[in-house]
Amino acid sequence: MSKTIIVSNRLPVKVTSGDEGLQITTSEGGLATGLGSVYKQGNNVWIGWPGLDLSEQDEKDQVTKILGESNLAPVFLSQDEINQYYEGFSNEILWPVFHYMSTYAKYNDSYWKCYQHVNEKFREAVLEQIEPGDTVWIHDYQLLLLPKLIRDVQPEITIGFFLHIPFPSFELFRLIPWREQLLTGMLGADLIGFHTYDNVRHFLSSATRLLPATASANVVSHAESTSVIETFPMGIDFEKFQQLALDENVREIGGTLRSNFEDQKIILSIDRLDYSKGIVQRIQAFELLLQHHPEYLEKVVLYMVVVPSRDTVPQYSELHDDIDKLVGNINATYRTQNWHPIHYFYRSFDVETLAALYTTAEVALITPMRDGMNLVCKEYVACRTDNRGVLILSEMAGAASELYEALLVNPNNIGSIMEAIVTALTMPYEEQERRMKQLRYIVQKFNVRHWVRLFTDKLSEVKDMQASMYARRVSQQTENRIKEQYTAAASRIIFLDYDGTLVGFHSDYSKAAPDHELMQILQRLTANPLNKVVLISGRNYKNLEEWFGHLKLDMIAEHGAWYKEEGDWKNLPGLTDGWKKEILPVLETYTDRTPGAYMEEKDFSLVWHFRSTERGLGELRAGELFTNLQYLIQDKRLQLLRGNKVIEVKSIEINKGIAALSWLGDDSYDFIMAIGDDHTDEDLFKALADNAFTIKVGTNVSAAAYYVENHKAVRRLLQFMAD
Ligand code: UDP
Repeated sequence: MSKTIIVSNRLPVKVTSGDEGLQITTSEGGLATGLGSVYKQGNNVWIGWPGLDLSEQDEKDQVTKILGESNLAPVFLSQDEINQYYEGFSNEILWPVFHYMSTYAKYNDSYWKCYQHVNEKFREAVLEQIEPGDTVWIHDYQLLLLPKLIRDVQPEITIGFFLHIPFPSFELFRLIPWREQLLTGMLGADLIGFHTYDNVRHFLSSATRLLPATASANVVSHAESTSVIETFPMGIDFEKFQQLALDENVREIGGTLRSNFEDQKIILSIDRLDYSKGIVQRIQAFELLLQHHPEYLEKVVLYMVVVPSRDTVPQYSELHDDIDKLVGNINATYRTQNWHPIHYFYRSFDVETLAALYTTAEVALITPMRDGMNLVCKEYVACRTDNRGVLILSEMAGAASELYEALLVNPNNIGSIMEAIVTALTMPYEEQERRMKQLRYIVQKFNVRHWVRLFTDKLSEVKDMQASMYARRVSQQTENRIKEQYTAAASRIIFLDYDGTLVGFHSDYSKAAPDHELMQILQRLTANPLNKVVLISGRNYKNLEEWFGHLKLDMIAEHGAWYKEEGDWKNLPGLTDGWKKEILPVLETYTDRTPGAYMEEKDFSLVWHFRSTERGLGELRAGELFTNLQYLIQDKRLQLLRGNKVIEVKSIEINKGIAALSWLGDDSYDFIMAIGDDHTDEDLFKALADNAFTIKVGTNVSAAAYYVENHKAVRRLLQFMAD
């Protein structure tokens, strides 16, 4: 039976060695809970670092054995690996850059070497477990290279990847010296998941700008493979927190807390110590409140929990010092005999105490500068079984894209945080209830199990989609069939598009000239008297004549407006070009406004090219132009075509499909083939009968029966025929 293999940096357990030997305690974290339903089943397994540094082999064997009983498999890391791969590359490069704090990044080459090495180590661990038909689900930024590493040795395996932290905008991501390798690593996965749509956008823009990759909607094609990029906002174990809120013990802790702050409203703040959490700005906003709203003196407290984290790292210990000082100053300035404005705890609490805090605090103040998701805010909501309490949430937390009924704030704007606190403290109960009910509905529905289900369902869907794509790909079997029919046929006709089909896509249109290899292929193909080879292109006929005029090649230019028959170029009867004087100035305006764009005038069509413009800008202008032209051509016998980095206006009669059919005429051929890559080639594919071999270059949706990856694959096929 096929199984699922989960891989993350850390295993969802803590292994400690004490007097009573090895002890394993399972993690209570959200991810562990969500994935618990997956890895504990059948022969599924979770692979990761067990969290302790063991040097003796027998100790490792012992840990492996104990973990194995709970469907867990360890990857052992040395102290040096922890320092360089985890603390180094992951936390001193990826973490700061992905959280928009790029000035903190240390691009150390030895970190990179170790990161590669440890990702390979994880691959070995996966390969020990993997069997054909299995699914691998890889988690987070420590393992960005792993999808591709596994794909290289197991090309058919199903691989999912989820990033738990933000994916930064292209401007940030491009700073990383090893950016291409990281993207390529991730694109080894069939499905790549992020918490928010913005992360998806950023990933798509980085992938298409930094790699030779293309994106059609949210599907990225890169190096003969495709990955789907999707949003899956991660949830929490809602039921668990809801139950905790009603738990006897939790209520008792809550009761004590309340009686300690009888006359005060509690503003709760909980985070790990991290520069991404906006802790300093939050304290400053609270101070602003005390300055500007003296009516709240002795009436509110900021109950602030900061969980210790990495405080041996200078940036973290500085942050820790800053917080200490700030809290000390504020308390010294404002405290009275019975009141301390800030109750600050630099420690972690058990989940019961957390739940008690959630159920008691009137306001939860969660204002990270950047956060992949932020689970604390969802836990607060889940615990509010009374539908009361107000959540103030940073716009920069992933959770903000779901929790619209929170008071959303810009964490850098301490004035607006202060105002949000005032709004929260004065919010009528009805309003609190209205908002909290909505929030609870979302957090309950999009809980962590739902998240797991959505991701795994999508992963199988993607795999099915790929399977049907592969069925269409010109496989060895199809290739053999083509060869057999070709060899057996006494008369053959082959329609070939030019740009993108016989040559690669060139950013300079005029430079995409045929090379020697292509000329050789065409020469030999046309030399065979049984073959009729028709070049069917959008290019103007003079251009085609210049390149191919000397060959025994039939040609259709400008999508059918011109054709070469018995050595002479003729144009389709009845075409006019009077319409050009109205359209031309519009295209010229857009060319003047868009650096890199240019216009091409053909006899019966006008083309606006944007393949050499800044990414994004060209598409934007093309969209605008398209809308404009749609309006302009309304009452004319014109058509508008959006091709690969071009927009073309031409007479409605011009169409590659019609052109090909008139070429076929009443002749019958034993072998008909058409290959093309563009929108305009779709007319060609549709026009030909079912027994024709229609082949699309590229993986986009098409009317063609088959597809090949690129022009090199086309040449391989033609090479055979030429031989
Ligand atoms: N947490 C905890 N003990 C504490 C404070 C927090 O166990 O004293 C937990 C909290 O319940 C939450 C997690 O730590 O589940 C923090 O997750 P979040 O996504 O908010 O932040 P991260 O630390 O992952 O960036």
